[in-house]
Amino acid sequence: MMKTRRDALCLLPLGGLGEIGMNLMLYGVDNEFFVCDCGVQFCDPWMVGAEYRLPDLDLLLEYKDLIRAIVLTHGHEDHIGAVQFVGGLLKVPVYAPRFAAEIIRLKEEEYGTHVVKDLIVTDEKDAIKVGSMVIRLLRVTHSIPDTYALVIDTPFGRVVHTSDFKMDDTPFDGVGFDYDAFEKQGDKGVRVLLSDSTNALVEGHTRSEKEIIGTIGKRIQEAKGRVLVSLFASNVHRVLGIIEKAREAGKKVAIVGKSIHLYLEAYRRAGYLTTPLDLVDERRIESLDDRELVILCTGSQAEPRSALVRASLQDHENLRIHAGDLVVLSSRIIPGNEKAIFRMVNNLARLGATVLHERVADVHASGHACREEERQMIRLLRPKAFIPIHGEYAFMKAHHELALEEGVQDSILVENGHLIEVTKHGIEVLEHMPLNHHYVDGPVIGDEEEMKLDERKKMAWQGVVAVWVSIEKKKKRLGARCNIKTLGIPILEKKMLDELEIHLCEEIEDMPLFVHKKQIEETIEGCIRGFFRRKIDKKPFVLSFIQFGED
Ligand SMILES: [Zn+2]
Repeated sequence: MMKTRRDALCLLPLGGLGEIGMNLMLYGVDNEFFVCDCGVQFCDPWMVGAEYRLPDLDLLLEYKDLIRAIVLTHGHEDHIGAVQFVGGLLKVPVYAPRFAAEIIRLKEEEYGTHVVKDLIVTDEKDAIKVGSMVIRLLRVTHSIPDTYALVIDTPFGRVVHTSDFKMDDTPFDGVGFDYDAFEKQGDKGVRVLLSDSTNALVEGHTRSEKEIIGTIGKRIQEAKGRVLVSLFASNVHRVLGIIEKAREAGKKVAIVGKSIHLYLEAYRRAGYLTTPLDLVDERRIESLDDRELVILCTGSQAEPRSALVRASLQDHENLRIHAGDLVVLSSRIIPGNEKAIFRMVNNLARLGATVLHERVADVHASGHACREEERQMIRLLRPKAFIPIHGEYAFMKAHHELALEEGVQDSILVENGHLIEVTKHGIEVLEHMPLNHHYVDGPVIGDEEEMKLDERKKMAWQGVVAVWVSIEKKKKRLGARCNIKTLGIPILEKKMLDELEIHLCEEIEDMPLFVHKKQIEETIEGCIRGFFRRKIDKKPFVLSFIQFGED
């Protein structure tokens, strides 16, 4: 573990650099640290069975006595999703914007847990003190309510950590991006800027939320049949904007999908939603005329159990697709989810729906700054040093080059595990610490080794063979009987297994009379793996159960 030098600010990113999601960064001066954001990453299908990936909990545990607080910037899962795990481990106060705090509370209610004990709602009026650092929140616009950048005053200068942001002049809640507030920070002097790189390869400026809600509203106005809009449940402003547009068009709204209700409830508890929404119960959807209904649902990423996927497979009890439905996927088509999304799009089309998505119509606005906004952030703050954060390596590299182009003195490109030191004179990477990510599978949490991810992957690809062998020592040689069962191996002909049993018995019977059990096990494994390799090019796991009997 690295201790900070007395005369430096120390930064250690544990997630979110060189990847999308799982954002977590440690900031420390004089061995007093705080954790900025605490996110999860949803696992790829190849991490068989694991649902989420978490930052290195062992490393956080090592720093436990030095960490004083967790500070969250907004309520997206890739910023707060690990707080229940990390919060339980560190037992320090968790500072969160109001909406994020309500999401954490609601989820704890849902799971019946109470891990995050000291949850403190924070806004721009507060100053959080961690040792010699003072952290303040500065409001930004993004795709979830209550998002803040952090302004961290340290003995080595001011750091601005933008977290996720876009520059939206006309967001749904009317509180546009505050350019002046950022410029003021720039006037006071910024030592280091850490800025969102998600869209560093996208030219131009993001579209405003109001514009997208307007475009979808127009579609709702013109639609002769039902309109189904699928979006991220956390984008509460867009949910409310679409409800408003449906009302204006004289239509009723139903919501299908638990998570949309959950985020709306968090918004209500945060005090931002004071009037009832007057929604149609999802069980009454079919009783309404197609022309008078707008449905908001989950499933824009074709998540397997989501409302829209189930409807596309005619497997949802309340939501059925009608010929003439207009389905709008109002979200990003996330790389990696494309195949599943387009399978769903095809199934919806097969049922008679017309599907619009970001590649064919203006139905989504990103929540992350494009190049022009990133450039403007650098110009407003005029930092001495720059570190691109939040994004895949290529995005961060493009952002790093943009900063150099803008004349930033020091821009460094770092990844998770890089320990960075900022002094009054310079910024440098001290070392690259190896990270051991953790995974969540239901109630179990462990690292890759503990979760047996490699073994699960191999089992899925290669299959399992269990063999029961009973061996008798006859007068001059061994006698053997075998019974084989397989899992996950394509067996096209039963006689293949009969053949293997005979072959295996012969191999064992050919062994010397006083052979050691270990040797028999090795022979069985070699024989079975060799057999399947020759026959179907697979090397399955072999479990052998050997029983000895005397003749
Ligand atoms: Zn976000």
